[in-house]
Amino acid sequence: MKALVLERQRVLTLREIEIDETLGPSDVRIAMGVVGICGSDVHYYTDGGIGPFVVREPMVLGHEGAGIVVEVGGQVEGLGVGDRVCMEPGIPDMDSRASRLGLYNLDPAVTFWATPPVHGCLRESVVHPAAFTYRLPENVSLAWGAMVEPLAVGLHAATKARIRPGDVAVVVGAGTIGTVTALSALAGGCGRVIICDVVQERLDLAAGLGAITPVNAGKENLAEVTMEMTAGWGADIVFEASGNAAAAAAVVEPLRPGGCIVLVGMPNEKVPFDVVALAAKEARIETVFRYANVYDRAVELLTSGRIDVGKLITDTFSFEKSVEAFEYAAAPPATSLKVQIDFGS
Ligand code: ZN
Repeated sequence: MKALVLERQRVLTLREIEIDETLGPSDVRIAMGVVGICGSDVHYYTDGGIGPFVVREPMVLGHEGAGIVVEVGGQVEGLGVGDRVCMEPGIPDMDSRASRLGLYNLDPAVTFWATPPVHGCLRESVVHPAAFTYRLPENVSLAWGAMVEPLAVGLHAATKARIRPGDVAVVVGAGTIGTVTALSALAGGCGRVIICDVVQERLDLAAGLGAITPVNAGKENLAEVTMEMTAGWGADIVFEASGNAAAAAAVVEPLRPGGCIVLVGMPNEKVPFDVVALAAKEARIETVFRYANVYDRAVELLTSGRIDVGKLITDTFSFEKSVEAFEYAAAPPATSLKVQIDFGS
Protein backbone atom coordinates (compact mmCIF):
# COMPACT_ATOMS: atom_id res chain seq x y z
CA MET A 1 0.00 0.00 0.00
CA LYS A 2 0.98 3.62 -0.35
CA ALA A 3 2.23 5.34 2.81
CA LEU A 4 4.06 8.42 4.00
CA VAL A 5 7.38 6.98 5.16
CA LEU A 6 9.98 8.74 7.27
CA GLU A 7 13.11 7.10 5.83
CA ARG A 8 15.41 8.91 8.25
CA GLN A 9 15.71 12.39 9.75
CA ARG A 10 14.45 15.02 7.26
CA VAL A 11 13.76 12.45 4.52
CA LEU A 12 10.09 11.72 3.83
CA THR A 13 8.74 9.81 0.85
CA LEU A 14 5.28 8.87 -0.28
CA ARG A 15 5.82 5.33 -1.54
CA GLU A 16 4.68 1.73 -1.58
CA ILE A 17 5.40 -0.21 1.60
CA GLU A 18 4.76 -3.78 2.67
CA ILE A 19 2.97 -4.04 6.05
CA ASP A 20 1.45 -7.23 7.48
CA GLU A 21 -2.25 -6.42 7.68
CA THR A 22 -3.80 -9.75 8.60
CA LEU A 23 -7.30 -9.18 9.99
CA GLY A 24 -7.79 -10.88 13.37
CA PRO A 25 -11.24 -11.93 14.65
CA SER A 26 -11.48 -8.85 16.92
CA ASP A 27 -10.09 -6.39 14.36
CA VAL A 28 -11.51 -4.07 11.76
CA ARG A 29 -9.89 -2.89 8.54
CA ILE A 30 -10.21 0.83 7.97
CA ALA A 31 -9.65 2.87 4.81
CA MET A 32 -7.99 6.02 6.10
CA GLY A 33 -9.94 9.24 5.57
CA VAL A 34 -8.21 12.05 7.44
CA VAL A 35 -5.00 12.14 9.50
CA GLY A 36 -3.89 15.12 11.56
CA ILE A 37 -0.22 16.05 11.84
CA CYS A 38 0.88 16.14 15.47
CA GLY A 39 3.86 17.96 17.00
CA SER A 40 5.42 14.54 17.65
CA ASP A 41 5.20 13.61 13.93
CA VAL A 42 6.95 16.87 13.07
CA HIS A 43 9.66 16.20 15.69
CA TYR A 44 10.38 12.75 14.26
CA TYR A 45 10.65 14.39 10.84
CA THR A 46 12.89 17.32 11.85
CA ASP A 47 14.93 15.70 14.66
CA GLY A 48 14.77 11.97 13.84
CA GLY A 49 13.59 11.17 17.36
CA ILE A 50 12.01 12.28 20.64
CA GLY A 51 14.03 11.50 23.76
CA PRO A 52 14.62 7.73 23.90
CA PHE A 53 12.43 7.12 20.82
CA VAL A 54 14.75 7.26 17.83
CA VAL A 55 13.80 6.42 14.23
CA ARG A 56 16.27 3.67 13.24
CA GLU A 57 14.43 2.22 10.26
CA PRO A 58 11.83 3.60 7.86
CA MET A 59 8.59 4.36 9.75
CA VAL A 60 5.13 5.47 8.61
CA LEU A 61 4.10 8.68 10.42
CA GLY A 62 0.70 9.74 11.77
CA HIS A 63 -1.45 8.80 14.78
CA GLU A 64 -4.45 11.15 14.62
CA GLY A 65 -6.68 9.15 12.32
CA ALA A 66 -10.25 8.72 11.17
CA GLY A 67 -11.61 6.63 8.32
CA ILE A 68 -14.20 4.19 7.06
CA VAL A 69 -14.56 0.53 8.05
CA VAL A 70 -14.11 -1.73 5.01
CA GLU A 71 -13.90 -5.17 6.69
CA VAL A 72 -14.75 -6.58 10.11
CA GLY A 73 -13.37 -9.63 11.93
CA GLY A 74 -15.66 -12.55 12.78
CA GLN A 75 -16.05 -11.69 16.46
CA VAL A 76 -16.58 -7.95 16.05
CA GLU A 77 -19.88 -6.58 17.32
CA GLY A 78 -21.14 -3.03 17.09
CA LEU A 79 -19.13 -1.99 14.04
CA GLY A 80 -19.92 -2.68 10.40
CA VAL A 81 -18.66 -2.03 6.89
CA GLY A 82 -19.25 1.60 5.94
CA ASP A 83 -19.08 2.94 9.50
CA ARG A 84 -17.12 6.16 9.87
CA VAL A 85 -14.73 5.81 12.79
CA CYS A 86 -11.81 7.28 14.68
CA MET A 87 -9.11 5.19 16.28
CA GLU A 88 -7.22 5.28 19.53
CA PRO A 89 -3.57 4.97 18.45
CA GLY A 90 -2.20 3.24 21.56
CA ILE A 91 -2.88 -0.48 21.92
CA PRO A 92 -2.00 -1.96 25.31
CA ASP A 93 -1.71 -5.57 26.39
CA MET A 94 -5.19 -5.95 27.90
CA ASP A 95 -3.93 -8.59 30.35
CA SER A 96 -1.24 -6.32 31.77
CA ARG A 97 -1.32 -5.08 35.33
CA ALA A 98 -1.66 -1.47 34.12
CA SER A 99 -4.64 -2.37 31.93
CA ARG A 100 -6.33 -4.25 34.77
CA LEU A 101 -6.01 -1.09 36.86
CA GLY A 102 -7.65 0.98 34.09
CA LEU A 103 -4.33 2.70 33.38
CA TYR A 104 -3.84 1.12 29.98
CA ASN A 105 -2.03 4.22 28.67
CA LEU A 106 0.74 3.41 31.15
CA ASP A 107 1.18 -0.21 30.10
CA PRO A 108 4.92 -0.53 29.34
CA ALA A 109 4.01 -2.87 26.47
CA VAL A 110 1.69 -0.38 24.73
CA THR A 111 2.26 -0.02 21.00
CA PHE A 112 1.48 3.47 19.75
CA TRP A 113 1.20 4.53 16.11
CA ALA A 114 4.25 6.37 14.79
CA THR A 115 6.33 5.80 17.91
CA PRO A 116 9.43 3.88 16.76
CA PRO A 117 9.42 1.13 15.70
CA VAL A 118 5.60 1.06 15.25
CA HIS A 119 4.20 2.27 11.93
CA GLY A 120 1.66 5.10 12.02
CA CYS A 121 -1.59 5.56 10.09
CA LEU A 122 -0.54 7.83 7.20
CA ARG A 123 -1.25 4.99 4.78
CA GLU A 124 -4.15 3.80 2.69
CA SER A 125 -5.51 1.36 5.25
CA VAL A 126 -4.93 0.05 8.76
CA VAL A 127 -6.03 -3.02 10.72
CA HIS A 128 -7.05 -2.03 14.24
CA PRO A 129 -8.68 -3.69 17.28
CA ALA A 130 -12.42 -2.94 17.26
CA ALA A 131 -12.17 -2.21 21.00
CA PHE A 132 -10.06 0.86 20.21
CA THR A 133 -12.17 1.99 17.24
CA TYR A 134 -15.03 4.45 17.83
CA ARG A 135 -17.98 5.07 15.56
CA LEU A 136 -18.63 8.68 14.54
CA PRO A 137 -22.26 9.81 14.18
CA GLU A 138 -23.59 11.48 11.01
CA ASN A 139 -22.91 15.01 12.21
CA VAL A 140 -19.24 14.45 13.05
CA SER A 141 -16.99 14.65 9.99
CA LEU A 142 -13.85 12.57 9.46
CA ALA A 143 -11.82 15.79 9.89
CA TRP A 144 -13.41 16.23 13.33
CA GLY A 145 -12.90 12.54 14.01
CA ALA A 146 -9.17 13.01 13.43
CA MET A 147 -9.28 15.76 16.10
CA VAL A 148 -10.48 13.30 18.75
CA GLU A 149 -6.89 12.20 19.45
CA PRO A 150 -5.56 15.64 20.49
CA LEU A 151 -8.90 16.43 22.15
CA ALA A 152 -8.51 13.27 24.25
CA VAL A 153 -5.32 14.75 25.74
CA GLY A 154 -7.24 17.86 26.83
CA LEU A 155 -10.11 15.82 28.24
CA HIS A 156 -7.74 13.58 30.17
CA ALA A 157 -6.08 16.71 31.63
CA ALA A 158 -9.48 18.19 32.54
CA THR A 159 -10.46 14.90 34.18
CA LYS A 160 -7.25 14.83 36.21
CA ALA A 161 -7.92 18.41 37.40
CA ARG A 162 -11.25 17.33 39.01
CA ILE A 163 -12.91 20.57 37.92
CA ARG A 164 -15.78 21.97 39.97
CA PRO A 165 -18.48 24.11 38.34
CA GLY A 166 -17.34 27.70 38.08
CA ASP A 167 -13.64 27.04 38.49
CA VAL A 168 -11.27 29.53 36.88
CA ALA A 169 -8.52 27.84 34.91
CA VAL A 170 -5.31 29.11 33.38
CA VAL A 171 -3.96 27.33 30.31
CA VAL A 172 -0.33 28.06 29.46
CA GLY A 173 0.22 27.58 25.72
CA ALA A 174 -2.29 28.12 22.90
CA GLY A 175 -1.11 25.47 20.46
CA THR A 176 -3.45 22.62 19.53
CA ILE A 177 -3.06 20.90 22.91
CA GLY A 178 -3.47 24.12 24.90
CA THR A 179 -6.55 25.05 22.89
CA VAL A 180 -8.24 21.65 23.26
CA THR A 181 -7.37 21.74 26.97
CA ALA A 182 -9.13 25.11 27.27
CA LEU A 183 -12.19 23.71 25.47
CA SER A 184 -12.12 20.62 27.69
CA ALA A 185 -11.86 22.76 30.83
CA LEU A 186 -14.95 24.74 29.79
CA ALA A 187 -16.83 21.55 28.89
CA GLY A 188 -15.82 20.16 32.28
CA GLY A 189 -17.44 23.06 34.10
CA CYS A 190 -14.91 25.88 34.28
CA GLY A 191 -16.56 29.27 34.29
CA ARG A 192 -13.68 30.96 32.55
CA VAL A 193 -10.32 30.08 31.07
CA ILE A 194 -7.37 32.44 30.82
CA ILE A 195 -5.07 31.30 28.02
CA CYS A 196 -1.50 32.48 27.64
CA ASP A 197 0.89 32.40 24.68
CA VAL A 198 3.33 34.65 22.85
CA VAL A 199 1.72 34.17 19.42
CA GLN A 200 -1.09 36.71 19.07
CA GLU A 201 -2.75 34.86 16.16
CA ARG A 202 -3.19 31.75 18.31
CA LEU A 203 -4.60 33.83 21.16
CA ASP A 204 -7.06 35.48 18.78
CA LEU A 205 -8.22 32.08 17.58
CA ALA A 206 -8.63 30.76 21.16
CA ALA A 207 -10.47 33.90 22.30
CA GLY A 208 -13.16 33.24 19.70
CA LEU A 209 -13.97 29.78 21.08
CA GLY A 210 -15.86 30.63 24.26
CA ALA A 211 -15.31 32.16 27.70
CA ILE A 212 -11.58 32.38 27.06
CA THR A 213 -9.49 35.42 27.98
CA PRO A 214 -6.24 35.72 26.00
CA VAL A 215 -3.02 36.89 27.65
CA ASN A 216 -0.02 37.70 25.48
CA ALA A 217 3.01 36.79 27.62
CA GLY A 218 5.16 39.06 25.48
CA LYS A 219 3.17 42.10 26.63
CA GLU A 220 1.37 41.13 29.83
CA ASN A 221 2.21 39.28 33.04
CA LEU A 222 0.07 36.12 33.36
CA ALA A 223 0.14 36.03 37.17
CA GLU A 224 -0.83 39.72 37.41
CA VAL A 225 -3.73 39.36 34.97
CA THR A 226 -4.94 36.21 36.77
CA MET A 227 -4.80 37.91 40.18
CA GLU A 228 -6.68 40.93 38.80
CA MET A 229 -9.39 38.70 37.37
CA THR A 230 -9.78 36.67 40.58
CA ALA A 231 -9.71 39.47 43.17
CA GLY A 232 -6.15 38.59 44.19
CA TRP A 233 -6.99 34.91 44.89
CA GLY A 234 -5.57 33.09 41.86
CA ALA A 235 -6.78 30.40 39.46
CA ASP A 236 -8.26 27.15 40.76
CA ILE A 237 -6.39 25.18 38.11
CA VAL A 238 -3.29 25.89 36.03
CA PHE A 239 -2.77 23.66 33.00
CA GLU A 240 0.77 23.73 31.59
CA ALA A 241 0.44 22.96 27.89
CA SER A 242 3.31 24.91 26.35
CA GLY A 243 6.05 22.33 26.88
CA ASN A 244 8.36 25.24 27.57
CA ALA A 245 10.55 24.69 30.64
CA ALA A 246 10.57 28.33 31.79
CA ALA A 247 6.78 28.61 31.36
CA ALA A 248 6.33 25.32 33.22
CA ALA A 249 8.42 26.57 36.14
CA ALA A 250 6.17 29.65 36.40
CA VAL A 251 2.85 27.80 36.93
CA VAL A 252 2.84 28.33 40.72
CA GLU A 253 2.44 32.12 40.63
CA PRO A 254 -1.06 32.36 39.11
CA LEU A 255 -2.38 29.43 41.21
CA ARG A 256 -4.70 29.97 44.19
CA PRO A 257 -3.92 28.40 47.57
CA GLY A 258 -5.04 24.76 47.46
CA GLY A 259 -5.26 24.84 43.68
CA CYS A 260 -4.29 22.20 41.14
CA ILE A 261 -1.51 22.19 38.56
CA VAL A 262 -1.84 19.81 35.61
CA LEU A 263 1.35 19.27 33.63
CA VAL A 264 0.34 18.46 30.06
CA GLY A 265 3.27 19.69 27.97
CA MET A 266 6.47 17.69 27.62
CA PRO A 267 9.46 20.05 27.97
CA ASN A 268 12.66 18.67 26.47
CA GLU A 269 14.71 19.88 29.41
CA LYS A 270 14.32 19.54 33.18
CA VAL A 271 12.02 22.04 34.90
CA PRO A 272 13.25 23.75 38.08
CA PHE A 273 10.17 23.87 40.34
CA ASP A 274 10.09 26.09 43.44
CA VAL A 275 9.11 23.45 45.99
CA VAL A 276 8.65 25.96 48.80
CA ALA A 277 6.25 28.05 46.69
CA LEU A 278 4.33 24.87 45.79
CA ALA A 279 4.20 23.78 49.44
CA ALA A 280 3.12 27.23 50.64
CA LYS A 281 0.03 26.83 48.46
CA GLU A 282 -0.40 23.11 49.13
CA ALA A 283 -0.63 22.76 45.35
CA ARG A 284 -1.92 19.47 44.02
CA ILE A 285 0.16 18.41 41.03
CA GLU A 286 -1.23 16.11 38.35
CA THR A 287 0.44 14.75 35.25
CA VAL A 288 -0.90 13.14 32.10
CA PHE A 289 0.61 10.64 29.70
CA ARG A 290 -1.55 10.60 26.57
CA TYR A 291 -5.01 9.48 27.85
CA ALA A 292 -7.17 6.54 28.79
CA ASN A 293 -10.93 5.99 28.74
CA VAL A 294 -11.81 9.37 27.22
CA TYR A 295 -12.45 8.66 23.50
CA ASP A 296 -16.16 7.98 24.04
CA ARG A 297 -16.45 11.25 25.95
CA ALA A 298 -14.63 13.17 23.21
CA VAL A 299 -16.96 11.80 20.53
CA GLU A 300 -19.97 12.61 22.75
CA LEU A 301 -18.87 16.24 23.20
CA LEU A 302 -18.34 16.67 19.44
CA THR A 303 -21.69 15.02 18.67
CA SER A 304 -23.66 17.22 21.04
CA GLY A 305 -21.90 20.37 19.85
CA ARG A 306 -20.56 21.13 23.35
CA ILE A 307 -17.08 21.21 21.81
CA ASP A 308 -16.46 22.70 18.36
CA VAL A 309 -13.06 21.87 16.88
CA GLY A 310 -13.82 23.30 13.42
CA LYS A 311 -11.79 26.49 13.83
CA LEU A 312 -8.76 24.54 15.07
CA ILE A 313 -8.31 22.84 11.70
CA THR A 314 -6.55 25.60 9.79
CA ASP A 315 -4.91 23.72 6.92
CA THR A 316 -5.75 20.65 4.84
CA PHE A 317 -3.49 18.92 2.29
CA SER A 318 -4.29 15.95 0.05
CA PHE A 319 -2.55 12.62 0.74
CA GLU A 320 -0.58 13.11 -2.50
CA LYS A 321 0.79 16.35 -0.99
CA SER A 322 1.78 14.73 2.34
CA VAL A 323 5.46 15.65 2.06
CA GLU A 324 4.54 19.28 1.41
CA ALA A 325 2.15 19.14 4.36
CA PHE A 326 5.04 18.16 6.63
CA GLU A 327 7.34 20.83 5.24
CA TYR A 328 4.54 23.31 5.95
CA ALA A 329 3.87 21.95 9.45
CA ALA A 330 7.58 22.08 10.30
CA ALA A 331 7.65 25.85 9.66
CA PRO A 332 4.03 26.98 9.90
CA PRO A 333 2.75 30.54 9.67
CA ALA A 334 1.47 32.01 12.95
CA THR A 335 -2.13 31.57 11.79
CA SER A 336 -1.74 27.80 11.42
CA LEU A 337 -2.86 25.46 14.19
CA LYS A 338 -3.84 21.93 13.10
CA VAL A 339 -2.67 20.67 9.72
CA GLN A 340 -4.55 17.65 8.38
CA ILE A 341 -4.06 15.28 5.48
CA ASP A 342 -7.21 14.24 3.61
CA PHE A 343 -7.28 10.95 1.67
CA GLY A 344 -10.27 12.19 -0.30
CA SER A 345 -12.58 9.33 0.73
ZN1 ZN B 1 -1.18 13.82 18.53
